[in-house]
Amino acid sequence: LSTNLSIGIDVGGTNIRFGVFNQANLVEEMRLEANFSQLCRDLSPEYASYEIVRVISSGIIGIIEKYYTIQSVGIGFPGFIHPDSKKIVASPNLSGLSYFNLAGELSRIFSLPFTLENDANAAAYGEYILASKPEGGLIYAGLGTGVGGGLVLDGKIYAGQQGCAMEIGHIIIEPNGRQCGCGNKGCMEQYASASGIVISYNSATQKRCSAAQIAEFAHAGDKDAITAYTLAANSLAQALASVIKVVDVRNVVIGGGVAAAWPLMKPAFMQRFEADLIDVLRNTIKIKISNANDKAGMLGAAMLSVEAS
Ligand SMILES: [Zn+2]
Repeated sequence: LSTNLSIGIDVGGTNIRFGVFNQANLVEEMRLEANFSQLCRDLSPEYASYEIVRVISSGIIGIIEKYYTIQSVGIGFPGFIHPDSKKIVASPNLSGLSYFNLAGELSRIFSLPFTLENDANAAAYGEYILASKPEGGLIYAGLGTGVGGGLVLDGKIYAGQQGCAMEIGHIIIEPNGRQCGCGNKGCMEQYASASGIVISYNSATQKRCSAAQIAEFAHAGDKDAITAYTLAANSLAQALASVIKVVDVRNVVIGGGVAAAWPLMKPAFMQRFEADLIDVLRNTIKIKISNANDKAGMLGAAMLSVEAS
C-alpha cells in the first residue's frame, strides 16, 4: 500500500466529491449528496457549519477506514477564503458562514493537516498540474451554474488580499444589463453560465430548458439556441480578453459543464477574444478546453494539501 496518499474534496452546491490521490493519480472517487445551499438557508449559521463539518467528516472517515495512510486533506470550497487565516470570509451561495474556520475544525477532529482554497482556484491549480506546470502560469474559467475563475501566477495561486481575485463572473460586460445575484447589473456570468444561457433562450422563446438541451437544439439548427450560445461566447471572450490585458498570462483553460458545448461557442469566442486583445497579445494566447472531466478541483485541492504539509 502506498504511504503517500492525500484526499482532495470538491464541495459543490448539491454534492461533495472526495478523491483519494497517490501523488497526482486518482486512486478512488466517492460522492455524497448534500445540499449545503439549502442547509444554510434553513439553519442558523452555527448549526449549518456544524452540519457541514459533520457531513464532510463522515466522508473522510469512510476513506480513512479503507486507506490508513492519508497524509493530508485539501478542500475546494465555493466561497472567498482569507489568504492568511484560511477562514471562509463569505460564501455567496452558502449564507451565514462568515469567518468560519472549516479547515481548523476538521484538522482538530482528524489530527491531519487540512488546506482550504476557493473551488475555482483549486480547479485552476489542478489544471496547472495537468498541463505540466506551464511557465508563467495559467488562467482558469469554470462555466457552471455561475462562472468561477482562478489564476496560477508563477507557480502559485493568486487569490488577492481578500480572497476575491479572479471573480471573473462578475466582470461587468453589459452596462445596465441583466440583474446579477451580486447586486450589480450586466455581470458576465449572467450570459456565459448555464443559468445565463437558460435566461437567453427563455427570453427569446418563453421555453424553459436546460443549457444542455439548448445545446442540442443549437446543433439541430435552432436559431434562438445558437444565439444564446453565441452571446455566452462573446461575453466570456470580452471578460477573458480584459483579464489577459491585466495579467498577461499565456495559458487559458475553460472548464465546467458548459464547456462541453465549446464547438458551438468557439467561432464567436475566438473572433471576439482576438479582436478585444491588443496587437502584441493577438494569436499568442493558448485557449484549451479542460479534459479533466471535472476532476481538476479535487486534484488541485489534494496537491495544495500535499505541498503545504
Ligand atoms: Zn455579479
